[in-house]
Amino acid sequence: MRTVSGRTDRVVVVGAGLGGLACALHLAGSGRQVTVVEREPVPGGRAGRLSLGGYEFDTGPTVLTMPDLIAEALDAVGEELTDWLDLTPLAPAYRAHYPDGSTLDVHTDPQQMAAEIARVCGPWEADGYLRFVDYARNLWQLERHDFIERNLDSPTDLLTGNLVRLVAAGAFRRLQTKVNQFFRDPRTQRIFSFQAMYAGLAPHDALAIYTVISYLDSVAGVYFPRGGIHAVSKALAGAAEKHGVEFRYDTTVTQVETASGRATAVRTADGERIPADVVVLNPDLPVAYRDLLPPTRQRRLRYSPSCVVLHVGSTQGYSGIAHHNIHFGRSWRGTFQEVIKRGQLMSDPSLLVTNPSRTDPSVAPAGRHSYYVLAPVPNLDRASLDWRGDLARRYAAELMATLEDRGYVGFTDGVEVSEIITPADWADAGMAAGTPFAAAHSLFQTGPFRPSNLHRTLSNVVFVGSGTQPGVGVPMVLISGKLAAARVTGGGR
Ligand SMILES: Cc1cc2nc3c(=O)[nH]c(=O)nc-3n(C[C@H](O)[C@H](O)[C@H](O)COP(=O)(O)OP(=O)(O)OC[C@H]3O[C@@H](n4cnc5c(N)ncnc54)[C@H](O)[C@@H]3O)c2cc1C
Repeated sequence: MRTVSGRTDRVVVVGAGLGGLACALHLAGSGRQVTVVEREPVPGGRAGRLSLGGYEFDTGPTVLTMPDLIAEALDAVGEELTDWLDLTPLAPAYRAHYPDGSTLDVHTDPQQMAAEIARVCGPWEADGYLRFVDYARNLWQLERHDFIERNLDSPTDLLTGNLVRLVAAGAFRRLQTKVNQFFRDPRTQRIFSFQAMYAGLAPHDALAIYTVISYLDSVAGVYFPRGGIHAVSKALAGAAEKHGVEFRYDTTVTQVETASGRATAVRTADGERIPADVVVLNPDLPVAYRDLLPPTRQRRLRYSPSCVVLHVGSTQGYSGIAHHNIHFGRSWRGTFQEVIKRGQLMSDPSLLVTNPSRTDPSVAPAGRHSYYVLAPVPNLDRASLDWRGDLARRYAAELMATLEDRGYVGFTDGVEVSEIITPADWADAGMAAGTPFAAAHSLFQTGPFRPSNLHRTLSNVVFVGSGTQPGVGVPMVLISGKLAAARVTGGGR
């Protein structure tokens, strides 16, 4: 494994996103003197906080999987997860709502889930589910240590026995094709394949290796921390601070200073110079290359679709929903084509509606309810929609009307506070192509083909976060923090 060169005592981490925080913890745990420089007043980046009229909204991730990775980052400084976070396993993990009016609860206990599938779709489908769980678990075991939790320097690093086993398991076939081998009912086919979207691809285009996302989502468990997902950001930052990491909030880095092929310091917008032996960059990788580093030729990346998030604080509660709800439209392949290929808004939307106040009433005023509605939309490379104009307001109204049609009676009338976040806002926050989901996980943007976490020429600059390996999502960026730290310390593999 390649590592940075030279001294590594003083590390400056730019950005307190979950990737930057995990990296800071792993570095502090191995005795480095770490300073985290964060532009915002709070940690978390995409896992941030929006406070509005007494409501507390999570701004980004809502589906929290693999808390053992949070525990691992805390353990790097000798802290216990249970001292920092109060996690509730969500049961069900999701409720799927289909256009024919049926619902399917996703339970993470396989026997309970098989019973639910048998109830809704019949016994053949339940057997298929149990075979699918074995298949997906096996893929996860084959992928985890060799390809995900490992710094990959070259494609030849992929040549392990587990690659052969993955090929034999059909993991390089299309995800939807593979999932359909286990399921016949369109409802189960959808609930175990839509997660390809998290990797930025349609299930018909993604490789079956990404079945592991469905596995983590629907089998390994979904959790909710008291106070919301932002509590994870606060916990990681709090533990890091307790163990000597210095945090400089409200401080924007404008440049990485370099000399003789090395970073020597970061410069801030206030004109301060913070010297460093190593610089770790957590801003979106293409933007870090573009704005903070000396000019280099950039490879053209294909980005994931973006999303609109509508935050609503409401007087209305709904008994028929769960914490996480996926409302599928009738269209399936067509929806992905609209958003990913044609650069259009969904004509028959599939939406994620999260209702955190159901699990934790403290995130809303007494007797009130909070909703987080996520709609996939094209990224700004794919379509230049007028998000800065009237479209945001119109789309918010359209989403509310869709929800009313899908059973959220009186949704619009119940709104007390609302805010809509669009691709224009993600772009303003420094995310390439106006998407918070980074480069898509197509084959040639995955593993050793994804932008490296080592700078091409500067020998002591490391990247962390969703733009680099292994990829997007809370579990992956926590792993990226560990991998980035290993580039500094030489630990790990
Ligand atoms: C709407 C949405 C929904 C999502 N849903 C899920 C989900 O359900 N489950 C899941 O697992 N993942 C989800 N994700 C993805 C997940 O949130 C991200 O992959 C992850 O949080 C990204 O972390 P990061 O460390 O890469 O980057 P970031 O969180 O973007 O951190 C980068 C940090 O760098 C700071 N920064 C940037 N530039 C500078 C500068 N010049 N100077 C100083 N600081 C700077 C930023 O302020 C930020 O704090 C979602 C994301 C979004 C936005």
